[in-house]
Amino acid sequence: MNDDNVVVGVVTEYDVISKKGQTVGEIMTHGVISITPDTDLEEVSHILVHERIKRLPVLDQGKLLGIVSRADLVKEVATRWVCLVCGEVMHSEEQPEQCPRCGASNVAAASESVSPGS
Ligand SMILES: [Zn+2]
Repeated sequence: MNDDNVVVGVVTEYDVISKKGQTVGEIMTHGVISITPDTDLEEVSHILVHERIKRLPVLDQGKLLGIVSRADLVKEVATRWVCLVCGEVMHSEEQPEQCPRCGASNVAAASESVSPGS
């Protein structure tokens, strides 16, 4: 970021790993993916998963307010649950007592290793 504390780009781990030997300026993701304090958490979660990034800058009119990471989201909004027996994915605010599909009680918060479409 520059002296005005305005975020000009985001470099992800992936960018660094896949593009060694270049400067940050060259590999910086253009068209910064960022969120505002008003972005809802579903949207944030969607961005983190689909853009394959682990952190999102929170911007208010170009000023960096903070960073939201996947870990923060998992902590704050664990609304996806997965059955450890059959793999059924559930959406719920609260941890389901049992899997609606196979009835198992082994239901855990879905981790980031469970990617959509798999
Ligand atoms: Zn199940």
